[in-house]
This record gives sequence, C-alpha cells and structure tokens, in this order.
Amino acid sequence: MGNIRFEALKTAFEHKPAVVDVPEGKVKDYFAQDVFTREKMKEYIAQDVLDQLFDDVDNGRTIHRDIAGVVAIGIRKWAMDHGATHFTHWFQPLTGGTAEKHDAFFTLGKSGELLEEFSGDSLYQQEPDASSFPSGGIRNTFEARGYSAWDPSSPVFLIGDTLCIPTVFVAYTGEALDYKTPLIRSTAALCHAAREVCAYFDKQVKHVHANLGWEQEYFLVDESLYTARPDLLLTGRTLMGHNSAKSQQLEDHYFGAIPARVLAFMRELEYEALKAGIPVRTRHNEVAPNQFEMAPIFEDVNLANDHNLLVMSIMERVAEKHHFRVLLHEKPYAGVNGSGKHCNWSMSTNTGINLLAPGKNPYQNLQFITFLVNVLMAVQRHNGLLKASIVSATNEHRLGANEAPPAIISVFLGKQISEVLDKLEHAKAEEAIIINAKKEMKLGVANIPEILLDNTDRNRTSPFAFTGNRFEFRAVGSSANCGAAMLALNAAVAEQLMLFKEEVDVRIEKGEAKERVLFDVIKKYIMACKAIRFDGNGYSDEWKAEAAKRGLDCETSVPKIIDNYLLPSSIQMFETTGVLSNAELHSRSEVKWETYVKKLQIESRVMGDLVVNHVLPAAKRYQTMLLQNVLAVKQVFSADETASLNAMDYSIIKQIEEHSGAILERVEQMTDARHKANRQSDERAKAIAYHDNVLPLMTQIREHADALELIVDDEMWTLPKYRELMFIH
Ligand code: ADP
Ligand code: MG
Repeated sequence: MGNIRFEALKTAFEHKPAVVDVPEGKVKDYFAQDVFTREKMKEYIAQDVLDQLFDDVDNGRTIHRDIAGVVAIGIRKWAMDHGATHFTHWFQPLTGGTAEKHDAFFTLGKSGELLEEFSGDSLYQQEPDASSFPSGGIRNTFEARGYSAWDPSSPVFLIGDTLCIPTVFVAYTGEALDYKTPLIRSTAALCHAAREVCAYFDKQVKHVHANLGWEQEYFLVDESLYTARPDLLLTGRTLMGHNSAKSQQLEDHYFGAIPARVLAFMRELEYEALKAGIPVRTRHNEVAPNQFEMAPIFEDVNLANDHNLLVMSIMERVAEKHHFRVLLHEKPYAGVNGSGKHCNWSMSTNTGINLLAPGKNPYQNLQFITFLVNVLMAVQRHNGLLKASIVSATNEHRLGANEAPPAIISVFLGKQISEVLDKLEHAKAEEAIIINAKKEMKLGVANIPEILLDNTDRNRTSPFAFTGNRFEFRAVGSSANCGAAMLALNAAVAEQLMLFKEEVDVRIEKGEAKERVLFDVIKKYIMACKAIRFDGNGYSDEWKAEAAKRGLDCETSVPKIIDNYLLPSSIQMFETTGVLSNAELHSRSEVKWETYVKKLQIESRVMGDLVVNHVLPAAKRYQTMLLQNVLAVKQVFSADETASLNAMDYSIIKQIEEHSGAILERVEQMTDARHKANRQSDERAKAIAYHDNVLPLMTQIREHADALELIVDDEMWTLPKYRELMFIH
C-alpha cells in the first residue's frame, strides 16, 4: 500500500491556479448585487411603508407586523426575480459560526394547491429547534423552545438560490441564545450613554454608532494535504508536527508577492464578498507562511459583524473550488504566528464626528479626550471581563505565545496621546482651559494638532491599542464571532459613560461651571486609569510581574478566565446597561465551559488516535528495519567490527523505544485523565480538569511524537509535514 502522505503530495503538486470567473468591469457594477439594499427596496416597496420602516430601524424601534407584511412581499418578489427558491433565517448561535434553516417559498392551499408564499410572519419569526443549540441551562430552566426574529437593521441577501434573513435567536421567555441580540442591545446602550455625554459639547448629536473594522487573518492549506491530516480535518489545527527548517524566520512572506494559486482564490473571494455587499479592500500576506489577511472598510458594528461571519463562510466555500482549505483556527501550527481578528472599534455621531479622533477645535478636543479617557476607565474596570470575551479553547494557544497579544489586557496609547494625558494630569484648570468672556473655551495644553497621530507609532505587542482615530482590540481570535468582544466593550464603555455623566451632573447642578467640572473629572480619571496604560513590551516577563502588581487580571487558564463573566462588577455592568441578564450571563459561561471541554475532548481523542495509528506504526516499522539491519550486519562482520558499525543504529533503535514507550504511557494517562474529568458533573470543574490534567499530557505526547518525526525515515512517515503544509500553494 502506498504512503498516503506521498499520494497527497502528488495531488497537491498537480493543483494549478484555478481560472477565475470575475467580470472585468468596475466594482460598482457588482457591489451589493446580492443584497436587498435600501436603494433596491424602493423598486419593490411603497414609499410610505419604507419611510416608516427606515424611521423605525434608524431609531431602534420595533417594526410593526403590518409593515413587516408589506416588506415581506417586496422581499420575496426581489428574491424570486433573482432566482431564489428558498429562504432562511440566518442567525448566530453560541456555538460560533452561523446557523440556517431553509424553507421553500411555497405552501399548500386548502385544496392542496401550491401557493407561492412568504408572509410577514415568516419574515418576522421562525422556529428552529432550539434544543439542538447550546443554551447553557436556559433551556432547562426556562422554556424549551426558541425562535429567530428578523433584524431589520441588517439587509437581507442571497446566497445561491437562498434568501438569507439576518435574525436574532432568543428563547420564548426572551433570553438571548445568540450573539446578535446582546450586541444590538449593547449598541443601543452605548448610543444612549454616549449621546448624553455628547450633549455637553454638541446638542445636535442625536445618534452615536459603534463602528467595527475587522481584519480577518487565516491560513490556506492544500486540500489533499489537509485531508491526509486527521487532526486538521477534525480539530482545525495540527496536534503534532516538527518545525520546518525554514519557517517564518526570514519574514519573507509578509507583504511578499502573493502566490498565483492564492491570488486566484483571493480574487474570487473578494468578488463574492463584494457581491454580498461586504466592502473588502485590503488583502495581503501575513507573517507566517501560507497566512493571509483580508479587511473591509469599517461599518456599523452589527452589520460589520454579520459581514465578518458571512465572509468566513464565503471563504470556506470559495476555497473548496480552488482545492484549498481555509484554516480559521487561531493556532493551526505551533511555532509560527497564529491568526487573530483585530477589531478596530470607534464611536461616531450622526453629525459626522469620530469621537475617538482629535478634533478641529478645543471643544472637539475636550470631547475626544473625554471619550478616550472613559474608554480607558472602562477597559481598566473590566479588563478581566474583556479577556473573558476573547478566550476560547482555540485562542488559548495563541494568546501569550510569543507573537500574539499577551493574556493580560492593557492599553497602548502611543507617545503623543500619553504626553497629552500627562500634561492634562499636571495642569491647573486655569492653564488647561481658558474661558473668555464669551464663554468660548480654549484648551491650552490639550491642543492636539489635527492630523497628528501617525501610524508608525505602533505597538504590536499590545492587546488593545489606540491607532490614531480608533482602538484596535487585537486579542480577538480569528475564528471568533467578534460580537462577543464588541458587546462587552460597548457595554463596558456605556456603563462608564453613565457613571461619568452622573458624576459631572451632580457638580453642575451644584452650580459649578461645566468646563471646569469636565476638566476635573477627566483629570481624576487620568490618574485613576494608570494601571491599564502600558506602552512597553507586552511579551516581556517584567510586564507580567508589573501587571500583577497593578492588579490587572493575569490568569492564563481559560476556564478560570471565564469566571470573569460572573464577577459582581460584570453582572452589575451588564444589568444596568440592559445588555445581558444575570441568567443570560450564567448560561453564557456554561456554554463557554461546555464548548471548551468538547474541543479538548475531541483533540485529545484525535491525538490518541494519531499517535497510536500513525506515529507509532511508522516508528515501529523503521525500528524493525534497523533491527533487521543490525542482525544482518552481525552475520557478515566480526564481533569487533559490528560494535562500532552498529552504534548509530543502536542509538536510534533505543530512542524509538524510549519515545514510543513514553507516548504509550502518556496516552494511557491522558485517557484516564479524560475519564476522570468526564465524571465531573459541573461544567466549570470539568473544564478546569481538562485544562489542568489533559492539556499538559497532550503537550508531552506531542514532544515525543515530534522527536520521532525527526528520527523516522521520511519515506515511512505518513502525516504531511509542516514544511509541506505551509509551503505548498
Ligand atoms: P492595519 O493592518 O494597519 O491595522 P488595515 O488597513 O488592515 O490596518 O485595517 C484597518 C481596519 O480599521 C479597516 O477595517 C479599516 O476600515 C478600519 N478603520 C479605519 N478607521 C476606523 C475607525 N475610525 N473606526 C473603526 N475602524 C476603522
Ligand atoms: Mg492589518
């Protein structure tokens, strides 16, 4: 029988760049072609209905069923004009990814005749079987059924012959079973709180948006090599594999030329994404071999998150056509960079002001500093929670690894902004704010030049970095639903802005001048939020010690980091902002622990299977060959001669014996540890047992397996090696 690795390699080399069928025309000819945009709605829906719909959507009001009924008819007509036969509610369960349930656009009439139908009710609400999605106890405690409900703020779109309707997914009792529901609640909370604070500076502000610009990193791997690696296939990452002699040390992949086969994939991916209305703009190689990135222009956070989830599924679909597989796992390969999904986050107003960008006049600058400092306070207060919002069994391998953000949340501000804050901290109100007779204000020390903030002042080791006009939350994982991180951030900032307003208002009511109070409170905050500010090297050991001294959350065990969702400060924050209830927080933590356990359980089983069925047989075959050789040499040469002749063989035979023995012993221990962990009835305890007792054994097994890979005859090794997975494209 042939070696499957060599067969896979042969097929991989035969894969040539695919012919891409992308129209020559301009992007605007096909941008959002598959989306029922507001523009297109005008063709299908009466203007007065649309006016009502848009007004409700823009002001966060519930859509009336009558309106939904009329809109549904327009949607169906448009979808069927474009070849759709089915529709689905498209939602974001806590498993990650997206879920769909397809129904055809027809129903049977009273006498059994076929009726084309898509009613307001089907647009409004659908009932997928909630019991097959994780709910972390909500199902048992509250109500068995859940339903998905239309989110009119994100437009419907087509995938092939299916109309997709972005929806929230909630239990019958109203508890959120998804990411979208609390994300929408968090944008409402932030909008409200930020608008109130904006009112100190500009009464025209009626609406504040949270924006998200994600940068999706991913790896590509040839499909035939992928299928020859059961670990990639089943867990999304390599559970073993020795480092390639050449990996990323030359850093020649970053911004290097994109290989032809990959370029073909990217062009088609971008075309599909643009048709779906996703404004993708940037593509480049990333640091590791076969690692790439795609980024769109930022959008409102809810829409941007839908677009990110959609892109992840488009990627997988397009990759198959190009004989690639996309690895969205945060750490598919040990020893090279992992993949993140940097979330660029900002707040902007309906008046066109970016609240995180320095302004054109002192008022705007004071406003900018106000929002900046409040974000710092929020991140400091909830640093453990924000970490909880980005951890997972998969991101765990990336965080704290040498190239990724450390497992401690801190904020990088850069030299310029740090100096402004330092000056403000030490300034007297009279120096800082000069109020003349006309009540015009001059912000003496915080006069920040308009186009400052160059992009070169970057710190790649910071998990949360200010980049001139936004914060970049860099710790988010590549496979994550960014909603989890964004809703925690929105809610934390909303809470903080509410606290700020309370504090300021009390003093204004007592008769103090507004500018003076704002200045005082900001100054107090600048002093209070020093712990979270860190511009140094986040990878260093000194920082770990320093961060612990500052009282930042330094926990590295994922199951324990998840505890942060249930801290009194977290529960209070989520409840006062109305983003998540106590029950929802408990259910979410349960789901996080449960998912963690399941992932590790699968990995550990696959690992056991791989070593027992691939690694050890290859090693034994090679060892047998060496043993036969030793015996043959003994027959031909004299005893004196064989001693030195066989030295190398002996040594390898012995090493194989030792590594194989160690592997078998640890596989047994790992199986035991798993069984013990499985007997825990509490999900948290189970997750901790997996983290503490199963994971370390997997690491040890890997070390021995990787050592064997180095020794065993290349021709006998059946698993595609790192150099093949990473360098063939
Ligand atoms: P880099 O890799 O240098 O961080 P990219 O160009 O890859 O930058 O991605 C930057 C992302 O940040 C893009 O999605 C971009 O649209 C987004 N972005 C730019 N300005 C803002 C802003 N004010 N708020 C949110 N996102 C922004
Ligand atoms: Mg980038």
